[in-house]
Amino acid sequence: MATQPMIVILMGPPGAGKGTQAKRLAAKLGIPHIASGDIFRWHVHNQTELGKIAKPYMDKGELVPDDVTIAMVIDRLSQPDCADGVLLDGFPRTLPQAQALDERFAELGWCIHVVPYIRVSEEVLLRRLSGRWICRNCGAVYHIEFRPPAKPGVCDVCGGPLYQRSDDKPETAKRRLAVYFEQTEPVLAYYEKQGLLVEVDGERSIEEVEQALLRAVKFAEKGN
Ligand code: AMP
Repeated sequence: MATQPMIVILMGPPGAGKGTQAKRLAAKLGIPHIASGDIFRWHVHNQTELGKIAKPYMDKGELVPDDVTIAMVIDRLSQPDCADGVLLDGFPRTLPQAQALDERFAELGWCIHVVPYIRVSEEVLLRRLSGRWICRNCGAVYHIEFRPPAKPGVCDVCGGPLYQRSDDKPETAKRRLAVYFEQTEPVLAYYEKQGLLVEVDGERSIEEVEQALLRAVKFAEKGN
């Protein structure tokens, strides 16, 4: 029988450091990092039909409708680079998305390996979101308070220009958090019932959180 692909679903509220950790973890595990938010931003930037549908929702900090999002992610999962595994970041965010993913994995004969959940208090999340700046070229993430670049507005890694995501502005950030608590928290309970959820304290350093996430993945490997 073919070996099981490594399926890791990284969960956590906006601002928990999910994107940063997902990139590091996927590189360490040697699997592609699939971030639904990044795919949507690509479509918005390139003004595709999908981008035109998603933009008004994203601008308000609301979720893009399930049918659109599910079709987009399932399509991405069918690409050949996903054959050995994937790290999902930002998907699933609703119960119907989680159920659709389970159905797709059942068709493929794939099992979810582990669902690490990065926990961060609401107060810290708001501070983190409203100070976040991102490199337009390489996607490196900075924070005006916690991780400022050496030269304001310029990426330390590649020299690219830094920008603030429009949905990180305070009112939209607040709405994204409210949407998270309403619609995404039930997904945590869904995975907890399946014994897949492993909680990690996200208020420690980037390196400490990364180590804890790697331990969660390794521990699940032994358990499987
Ligand atoms: P993110 O970068 O993960 O914070 O996503 C940015 C925005 O993209 C979200 O606020 C949503 O509008 C949209 N989005 C990303 N992933 C999903 C998803 N799984 N379901 C619905 N909307 C999503």
